[in-house]
Amino acid sequence: MNAHTSGLHHVTAIGGDPQRNIDFYIRGLGLRLVKKTVNFDNPGTYHLYYGDDAGRPGSLMTFFPWQGVPQGRIGAGQSTSTAFSVPAGSLGWWRDHFAGLGVASTITTDDSSEERLSLRDPDGLQLDFVASSVTDPRDPWDSASVPADFAVRGQHSSVLTVNEPAGTVRVLTEDLGLRVVSERGDRIRLAAGDGGPGNIVDVIADRTAQPGLTAGGTVHHIAFRVPDFATQSAWRDQLVDRGFAVTAILDRQYFTSIYFREPGGVLFEIATDTPGFDIDEPLLELGRGLKLPPWLEPSREDIEHAVPPVALPVENNPAFAAVES
Ligand code: ZN
Repeated sequence: MNAHTSGLHHVTAIGGDPQRNIDFYIRGLGLRLVKKTVNFDNPGTYHLYYGDDAGRPGSLMTFFPWQGVPQGRIGAGQSTSTAFSVPAGSLGWWRDHFAGLGVASTITTDDSSEERLSLRDPDGLQLDFVASSVTDPRDPWDSASVPADFAVRGQHSSVLTVNEPAGTVRVLTEDLGLRVVSERGDRIRLAAGDGGPGNIVDVIADRTAQPGLTAGGTVHHIAFRVPDFATQSAWRDQLVDRGFAVTAILDRQYFTSIYFREPGGVLFEIATDTPGFDIDEPLLELGRGLKLPPWLEPSREDIEHAVPPVALPVENNPAFAAVES
């Protein structure tokens, strides 16, 4: 079997104050909090999942927000920028929107087909908004914070910065099934599936970049999609045969996951599309309650005391806004 990912599943980053994170990603980016749970490997910390209305793979950005986390350093061996797909012609609106929130941003033109608005989130995480001439067919979350005409359609791409690109590109092409679509300067663009937004990885070769330090304001890992458990299991066997140190298949409740590090140092995950985020709460209620997997339910009381209380903006669950406001 030769494995091929169909694209990006999610990006997971480390943040600071969880309330500030919630406010920025719901009100600033207009994403929906589709799950409020805890880090299954460290249940005293939240794991917050943002995405489209249902948290579809390819729309997901997730955070481990640690109050008082030390600042990390963006650098080699990391995903150094996370790009969201927005409609062509929308970047002026986004620049004004973020200016209104006190967040400075800059617009650059990558080439004739792509414009990019770049900014840092409150923890210093590098974010880009890419308006491409390629129309993104995905429906946005219909948020009261960001009008649908401008809204994020999902992920656009992840940028990986490595000192030596050959090994990273080899894993992406030979082991994950992406293909090189362009090489410009120090940037190698690879694509999965149909190659549209949500299926793109840019590898930046920077031989002098300092190694990144994974802590606040940095990406922890990026995840690629696989349809189901059976495919993931076969894919894991293949990666092990090829000499990668791959974790066991881990139950993440909303998907199952394996992890391994690529030669450039970036932590990769492969995550299933199934079962999805409505497995433990209805679509209309996504994000409202603190959800725990069955094996952590016995510790619910301790966990609820360990995580700081957070308030969810009413636009996250408009069906309940009238009763709650
Ligand atoms: Zn992950």
